[in-house]
Amino acid sequence: MRADGIFIAVEVEDSAAADRALAAKLAEVCPVDIFVVVASGELELVEKNIDECVLCRLCLDAAPQGAVTIIKRYDNDTQL
Ligand code: SF4
Repeated sequence: MRADGIFIAVEVEDSAAADRALAAKLAEVCPVDIFVVVASGELELVEKNIDECVLCRLCLDAAPQGAVTIIKRYDNDTQL
């Protein structure tokens, strides 16, 4: 899944989004609530918060490599 703001986009692999333990961890670590766990236990991205990303890398550190990608739309789509 992917959600785009004006400046930032966040992409999460579908298998990672379906991993309840990982979903809970991502929802816990992000300081600006970009990740939320819905009733099914799966992860969803909160579109209105995407541009609030502070590039802290906590989500990247919490997830297996490649499971979460932070894309800087304002910088030619380079990845964090
Ligand atoms: S880099 Fe930080 S602020 Fe941005 S989505 Fe990941 S945890 Fe949230």
